[in-house]
Amino acid sequence: MKKIQMVDLKGQLDKIKKEVDTSIQDVLETTAFINGPKVHQFQHNLEQYLGVKHVIPCANGTDALQIAMMGLGLKPGDEVVTADFTFAATVEVIALLNLTPVLVDVNPDDFNINIEAIKKAITPKTKAIVPVHLFGQCADMEAILEIANEHNLFVIEDNAQAIGANYTFKDGRKAKAGTIGHVASTSFFPSKNLGCYGDGGAIFTNDDALAHTIRGIVNHGMYVRYHHDVVGVNSRLDSIQAGVLDAKLPHLDSYNRARQLAARKYNQAFKDCDKIITPSGKAICQGICDTCDCHVFHQYTLRLKGVDRDALVVYLNENNIPCGVYYPIPLHKQKAYADDRYNEADFKVTNQLVQDVISLPMHTELDDEQIDYITSKVKSFING
Ligand SMILES: *Cc1c(COP(=O)(O)O)cnc(C)c1O
Repeated sequence: MKKIQMVDLKGQLDKIKKEVDTSIQDVLETTAFINGPKVHQFQHNLEQYLGVKHVIPCANGTDALQIAMMGLGLKPGDEVVTADFTFAATVEVIALLNLTPVLVDVNPDDFNINIEAIKKAITPKTKAIVPVHLFGQCADMEAILEIANEHNLFVIEDNAQAIGANYTFKDGRKAKAGTIGHVASTSFFPSKNLGCYGDGGAIFTNDDALAHTIRGIVNHGMYVRYHHDVVGVNSRLDSIQAGVLDAKLPHLDSYNRARQLAARKYNQAFKDCDKIITPSGKAICQGICDTCDCHVFHQYTLRLKGVDRDALVVYLNENNIPCGVYYPIPLHKQKAYADDRYNEADFKVTNQLVQDVISLPMHTELDDEQIDYITSKVKSFING
């Protein structure tokens, strides 16, 4: 059996090495290392793929979130509602911009921001909602857009984990994750579903004026060379990374499909374990079916019932199975973001999830032998 890895970037690269080499070589030949034609080519191809008017590449997914918030003109003291159960980048940029983060609880089934909790958190100072499409599946965007319309709020999608996922509206219309709110951010960190070989990120929007504002912000606030109209940042996707991404983009759907197939095999293996709750889509799609494209499984995350999660992690590691706990501490309990305003009773789900979740290896190169081995070890631990 091949060594099991949490993410197998080498196995994936081996299959597309020619395309990646050619694309990188193109950049070397042009020596246009910053803002070269490859960046524009990738930007254009990603716009086509997503069906969004504007993709603005930048240096990483955290910058993308920050720049989106700067572009919307959010001001110190504005409240921004986001999920308590996510990676810290989301709340970090809210705090960095001197906005006020308002963390709220998530759903136990899809791990995404809870709609009732958002409603409860809204005050006259609320200016934006940041749903994070966690582990590869969209938050309940229709309900979020409704709240946003009612209260005149911006919706910023943190789409670092769900690129390529589809969201289906009640009327059957589909849209790609990251094209539904006012603006979205994504990350091309190597382990993300569309990853480069370094850092990278992008902002998406259908709003022409906002896209224009953001294009200036990523480039020192310049709209005309050496004329600085607003305070900006220096945040660029470098051309070599754009070359890698442009070579990988045509494979994104098949990569996401491979993840979905692996998830389905995992689900199948665990279906009779009553101490394991397997990931499932929301009512809209009932999880993984042949046509289901709502979940792109950035992570394959189980909820355990009455199992010592930390002992399972040790056991799996002893058996050469890497695994992850995303995330072990709720953001509202992190030193940097703790606040007297928070009430533990409002975070029942997150407080439980941080104890119960475990993420198994998930990538595009998992084979049946590896999945069988992983699931048999998980089951043998759980069944004692
Ligand atoms: C990875 C990630 C980010 C940050 O992306 P970087 O490119 O590492 O800055 C932000 N939000 C979420 C949910 C992420 O998973």
